Amino acid sequence: MTEAWRPDDDDDQQRRGASGPVRVRVPAKVNLHLGVGPLRRDGYHELNTVYHAISIYDELTARRGDTLTLTMEGEGAGELALDDTNLAIRAAHALAGYAGVPPHARLHLRKQIPLAGGLAGGSADAAAALVACDALWGTGLSRDELAGIAADLGSDVPFLIHGGTALGTGRGEAVSPVLARPTSWHWVVAIADGGLSTPAAYAELDRLRDAGAAGPPLGSTDGLFAALRQRDPRVLAAALGNDLQDAALAMRPSLAGTLKAGEAAGALAGIVSGSGPTCVFLATNADDAERIAAELATAGVCRQARTAHGPVAGARIG
Ligand code: ATP
Repeated sequence: MTEAWRPDDDDDQQRRGASGPVRVRVPAKVNLHLGVGPLRRDGYHELNTVYHAISIYDELTARRGDTLTLTMEGEGAGELALDDTNLAIRAAHALAGYAGVPPHARLHLRKQIPLAGGLAGGSADAAAALVACDALWGTGLSRDELAGIAADLGSDVPFLIHGGTALGTGRGEAVSPVLARPTSWHWVVAIADGGLSTPAAYAELDRLRDAGAAGPPLGSTDGLFAALRQRDPRVLAAALGNDLQDAALAMRPSLAGTLKAGEAAGALAGIVSGSGPTCVFLATNADDAERIAAELATAGVCRQARTAHGPVAGARIG
């Protein structure tokens, strides 16, 4: 006799957790608008930003284990510490503490997002670890609860739980999704040799502003949102902006050549991503993006040029 399905079965399964491996894919982010306001008393800057998740992914697999361990391959392997300072491990501890479960898992990271590249790779790994361990341990938290834990791990982590395109305020951790009609934007991502430190980029911006050598701050995100609604890449290109770009260029003057090369290759616009040194270029369509990426690779102005599209979903199982 076949046993009847009971409505509680799925809930039981969620509570017990997964017996097999849980694999989570998590995207990189770029900032379509990164407005940096004044330095707050807590040492963070007030931000007014529009996050956008693009199709360059890290992948984190979580398996059952007797302790918490992390291994990795890909970008940054051999450079990045795999101990309690790693954001994936910190995220697993934070979730276990919140849910009152032992932090036992074997985590493995396959990284494609470059280290300290301005694409929020570490934050992405933290978001992936929260989603993977939640499924592995059967803690069954909602995405909003996970985003609440994420906010303590880093300003970009809540966005990488949600993905898509979203407004970020506060220090970037307060995320409101943008409900735009679906449009896919085509990007070229120029990955540089070596990284840039995010705190150093903010300190450089403060220095430039104190010296009166920074450009005027970007201000409101209204223009960017209006551009997104028009669904025309030329209009979006004109609305992109990053207050940290002057700082990144001051720290890495060669990025000016990368931006110039992308625009010479036919990109509609190029900006430094976050605190850099990655530069991202908006293309008219997917074919144009391929062509621009090939030209950038030939020009030798970056370590690697890749195409990507966005927006894409945040950290997801599968
Ligand atoms: P953001 O755009 O959020 O400022 P970023 O892309 O410039 O970040 P990340 O790659 O996120 O830089 O990493 C910044 C630092 O975080 C690294 O230099 C490293 O010391 C630390 N870190 C901790 N865990 C990780 C991780 N899993 N992946 C990458 N960096 C990590």
